Amino acid sequence: MNDTSVAQKQLVTLKKKLDTAIESRSLLEDDFNQQSSLLIQFISKLTLISKGMDIELDNRLAQLRTLFTKSAPISDIAEKITIISKLLQQHSVTNAKNIAHMHEQFNQAGQSLQQVNGLPDNLRRDLRALLAETKESKDALIQYIPLLSQLLTFYDLALKSKSTLSSKGLLQPPAITPTATKLTNNEDLFDTSLLEKISQSLSSLPLSKKHTNDLLAIKKKLMADQSSDAVLRHLIEIFDVIVADFKDEQNSAKNFLTHLSATLTTVQTAVKETIDSHDSSQVTHEKINKKLQAQITDMTGSVEKALSLNEVKEDINEKLQFITKTLEQKSKFEQYSQKQLSDKLKEMSLKVEILEKQSKVFEESLALQHQKSMQDALTKLANRAAFDDYFSKAMIRFHHKPFGLALVVIDIDDFKNINDTYGHTAGDKTLQVIANTIVKNVAKDVFVGRYGGEEFVLIYSNEPKESLLTELNGLNNAVARLPFKFKDNKVSITLSIGATHIQTDDNIDLAFERADQAMYKAKREGKNQVIYFP
Ligand code: GH3
Ligand code: MG
Ligand code: MG
Repeated sequence: MNDTSVAQKQLVTLKKKLDTAIESRSLLEDDFNQQSSLLIQFISKLTLISKGMDIELDNRLAQLRTLFTKSAPISDIAEKITIISKLLQQHSVTNAKNIAHMHEQFNQAGQSLQQVNGLPDNLRRDLRALLAETKESKDALIQYIPLLSQLLTFYDLALKSKSTLSSKGLLQPPAITPTATKLTNNEDLFDTSLLEKISQSLSSLPLSKKHTNDLLAIKKKLMADQSSDAVLRHLIEIFDVIVADFKDEQNSAKNFLTHLSATLTTVQTAVKETIDSHDSSQVTHEKINKKLQAQITDMTGSVEKALSLNEVKEDINEKLQFITKTLEQKSKFEQYSQKQLSDKLKEMSLKVEILEKQSKVFEESLALQHQKSMQDALTKLANRAAFDDYFSKAMIRFHHKPFGLALVVIDIDDFKNINDTYGHTAGDKTLQVIANTIVKNVAKDVFVGRYGGEEFVLIYSNEPKESLLTELNGLNNAVARLPFKFKDNKVSITLSIGATHIQTDDNIDLAFERADQAMYKAKREGKNQVIYFP
């Protein structure tokens, strides 16, 4: 083999090496592009979900979005991205539910005040204006604070005007208090039925454990001490507790959003740096490739132009050395840029992992809040909201495909006597004991809820009439046999129970009305019994 053919062989090998190097570089670029695209999709999703929650976050996300022109997936964090997206979605759903709940309670409280007789005209007008203003649900819980504050002022004014009117002997008997009472020293007593309504509304407020306990303590004082001054003081305490709870909730959401925002900023910076370094490394790569191409072209030219073999040898040797150096440089540079890329990706996935952990904490607190908003604080049973939700879903399933769906309304007999004779705390304990007894005496799959006051509701699925009545009579007897003892007096407490099965032409209201009517029939016919309406 002569020297020229050796040189040409080496040339061919070098060309192959160069092609392989170019190919591996292009694979690296493809990978990078894929990873970036997923990251961009993820950040876009986050953007949409958290939109409107926080202006600063919105702005940062908008800036981030403008930075992205290409897309690229990061396969090993794809799963985490899905979870985070879901959590953020849940946040907006829970928030909407809490707002709806607050909206309903606010309106109920306002309407209760409207029902009070003898309110001054201007107060009535202002109250009407406030309720008109809050007809539409607000966008955020925090917006209810000034409204609650205003409503509380109206309650205060109502109290004051009532005490003035009654001291002048001008007050008509209040419409919703058949037994307006006066203390012997002539101090006005607050309308007890209004207090009970407030007390019931308080029970369904979804507050933290600490604030629920604070609220229960104030509720006790409220029922024990019903003079106008004391009631006003307690109402203000209640308001303070609600505001404190709002602040806590707002802070926890704010903390999460701050972390989210900080993490996104880090990811944003990392992505920008990666893109920048990718751009600059691409420029370097092109330079090296061009250099290599030029060196090879130069070498080919030398071979063609050379006059003697020795000339070729010398020239080629020198050029081969250059090419080898350039190739070494190229491989070093590739290693360096690959490491940089993987470092950046690692940094990003670390940040996303931290965010995932924070999201989990936030999710847990949201889940807890959701659970609380569906639970009655006193009896720990499902509350009215949970009942409405459960029953409406059961009705939808029933209308889709009928099954033995039964609704039961339970009302404690002469419960007011317990409160009046032994005090509100005894009444509360009685409600707890009866709630537990109901749960123990019905099958596990029966929905048990506190509908309000001393009324409970049960929902049975697939329960025929005979076994339903057997179970309800068993429950009725179990409660009647409970050995209550107040102030050394043995007391027995009974229930009136109304039950019905849902018919194919029923709707929620008709079905409830029928169960309620059955319960009232039980009352009329002497209480302590179960009545069934088909
Ligand atoms: P009936 O047999 O006709 O049902 O008479 P009742 O006394 O049970 O019914 P009424 O509707 O006159 O009174 C219900 C009472 O339940 C009024 C209120 O004092 C009491 N109540 C409602 N919610 C609570 C509560 O959370 N705790 C306590 N202790 N009492 C409550
Ligand atoms: Mg009742
Ligand atoms: Mg009752």
